[in-house]
Amino acid sequence: MELEAFDFVVVGAGVSGLSFANWAREEAARRGRAPPSILVVEREREPGGYCRTVKRHGFTWDFAGHFFHFRHAEVEAWLRARMSGAVRTVERVARVRTAPTTGSPSSEVDYPFQTHIHQLDQAGFIACLADLHQASKHVDEAAPASFKSMLLRRFGAAMCERFLVPYNEKLYACDLDTLDVDAMGRFFPHASLDEVLAALRPEADVRAGYNASFSYPEGGAAEYVRALVRDLPERTVALEEEVLAIDLAERVVTTSQRKLRYGQLVTSVPLPATLRATGLPHDEGAFTSNRVLVFNLGFDKKGPRDVHWVYVADPARVFYRVGFYDNIIPANRMSLYVEIGLPPGGERPDVGVLQQRVLADLAAEGIVHQGQKLVAHHHVVMSPAYVHLTQRSIAEAARARAELEGHGVFSVGRYGGWSYCAIEDNLLETRALAARVVR
Ligand SMILES: Cc1cc2nc3c(=O)[nH]c(=O)nc-3n(C[C@H](O)[C@H](O)[C@H](O)COP(=O)(O)OP(=O)(O)OC[C@H]3O[C@@H](n4cnc5c(N)ncnc54)[C@H](O)[C@@H]3O)c2cc1C
Repeated sequence: MELEAFDFVVVGAGVSGLSFANWAREEAARRGRAPPSILVVEREREPGGYCRTVKRHGFTWDFAGHFFHFRHAEVEAWLRARMSGAVRTVERVARVRTAPTTGSPSSEVDYPFQTHIHQLDQAGFIACLADLHQASKHVDEAAPASFKSMLLRRFGAAMCERFLVPYNEKLYACDLDTLDVDAMGRFFPHASLDEVLAALRPEADVRAGYNASFSYPEGGAAEYVRALVRDLPERTVALEEEVLAIDLAERVVTTSQRKLRYGQLVTSVPLPATLRATGLPHDEGAFTSNRVLVFNLGFDKKGPRDVHWVYVADPARVFYRVGFYDNIIPANRMSLYVEIGLPPGGERPDVGVLQQRVLADLAAEGIVHQGQKLVAHHHVVMSPAYVHLTQRSIAEAARARAELEGHGVFSVGRYGGWSYCAIEDNLLETRALAARVVR
């Protein structure tokens, strides 16, 4: 039987898959060619991948705190041109709650922690500064071997024990010594001794880090996905259809519904899943990640007002980050996302028990007060969420992606590339890919 054939079959209708479909059409138009035939195959009921929004009882929540930091104005403009709803640009107000240490309780400072240690109590500030000064003398020595040793070598023990180590251990849910030095790439706010000292000056610009201001659509992150679907011809996206196997020799994918022939395949599913679908031998053990359990919680009354999100390092609290939607899109009821890092694989989390624990910890942190009632809730487990970038995973991902490319298969996106990135990176990567592969 003749199979349906497409120039491009795209696996996954997240930001990467959908943006590739748009860029490929634009690239063909730029070259004066007819648009390529494209089918985007998505196993879920709706497009968006991790960039999805749920609305409940008047609350608008994303799958996890999704805020947008565009470094390329033209990419943001390209998306906005396809949107009808309003987008807010907000100056970030983020805080860090440190882990208690012997003799000193948890305290709250502005984010990034590294340039706000002067907001700690005096003993804490002196300890951090002294250790940072000591560390700065060794900064030019041989490169550290792991993420944890990078933290200790660059910042010293006092900053590590108050925030950098316990926070990242909660987030990644793994031994930080197994992670690559550059596990967080540009998302890690580095600061030298000079920068810490400069932050002490009264005129210092405290806005720092990769997300000093951010934009957020009033309708939630899914508005960006809607923009990416808008210009695609009808039936470009096939929902509730899962890719099960990829035959590299025949260039045929088997889905839960049919077989499809492709000229080239663009896949945004997690790289190890693509490799399994192809049957190519690979180092499966190289690919580990955390899972993130997100609780979205709606309350009947307003809570803290002057903050968008808080990083919580105290190991006694179950969550690593709490964000306030109602302070981003102003509202008079507290609307939270709460993120918990879980180790890979393992057991299904007991969501009921964890939700009770979250509520108790929110009360202990003074975020929920007695007069507030929980009126709506939602949860989702994101797996994989933060990939564990190790030297082994970096090498294996590069090798496997190059091998796949040799077969006309392009593994892209946050999980197809097995990387730490944001949606803007997904848009840029797929634009560059379209320029390369559309003829
Ligand atoms: C906790 C967290 C917070 C984040 N916060 C931000 C933020 O604030 N700002 C930001 O810019 N980015 C953020 N990101 C990153 C952002 O979510 C990703 O960069 C982006 O959503 C990745 O899109 P993608 O299309 O590459 O992958 P995905 O969204 O994972 O899309 C892959 C798609 O493939 C589908 N699929 C999988 N397997 C199959 C199959 N076999 N057959 C068919 N379909 C399949 C999936 O259902 C999914 O729809 C965050 C990520 C996490 C985990």
